[in-house]
This record gives sequence, C-alpha cells and structure tokens, in this order.
Amino acid sequence: MFPVPTAPDRRPSVSLPCRTEPDDLWFSDNPAELEQAKVLCAACPIRRSCLTGALERREFAGVWGGEILDRGAVIARKRPRGRPSKAALARDAEIAAARAAAGVA
Ligand code: SF4
Repeated sequence: MFPVPTAPDRRPSVSLPCRTEPDDLWFSDNPAELEQAKVLCAACPIRRSCLTGALERREFAGVWGGEILDRGAVIARKRPRGRPSKAALARDAEIAAARAAAGVA
C-alpha cells in the first residue's frame, strides 16, 4: 500500500497576534478596538512585511502591520461612525474616477 499524500501544513510556525486573538478587533468599527489591534500588532514578528503587503494590495480596511488602513492608505486613527470626512469623500471620488477611466464597474 502506498502512503496517501497529505496537504501541506500552511499554518504559520510563529504565533501571530491576529491568529490568536479575536479577529474582529482588526476589522472593528470601534476606534478603541482598532487601537487595541495596533498594540497587539506591535509584537508581531512579521509586522513590516504585513504592512508592506497590505499597502501593495491597497487593502480597503482593517489593521495591517500595526497601522489602520482606509481605502489603501494609512490613517492615524479611525473616526467614529458619522458623516465621512472631506478627505474620505475626495478619496472616494478619486477612486471612482480611476475605476471609471479603467472601465471597471
Ligand atoms: S502585523 Fe499583520 S500578521 Fe501581525 S498581527 Fe498584525 S495584522 Fe496580524
């Protein structure tokens, strides 16, 4: 009888805070929880590469590499729910124009 091949183990060999803590923190609407995620990221061994990858992918939201990303850019802090800032509205308009120019719906 031949051995049955198994799927490679894709779990990271190091402990990543976003894998051991509730992942809701990293994508919370609550600014205080996002700050908590940033603190947890500070101890992560792959923090720099995590942030670099998130910026390259222009992640839409969440905490990546210890920073809060909003529409692909690092922001200092998340504003509580409410009226969007003028900067956010301008970024949205810029993204919509770029998508329209590229023919992306
Ligand atoms: S730096 Fe990236 S991989 Fe590390 S805990 Fe934060 S989000 Fe997770």
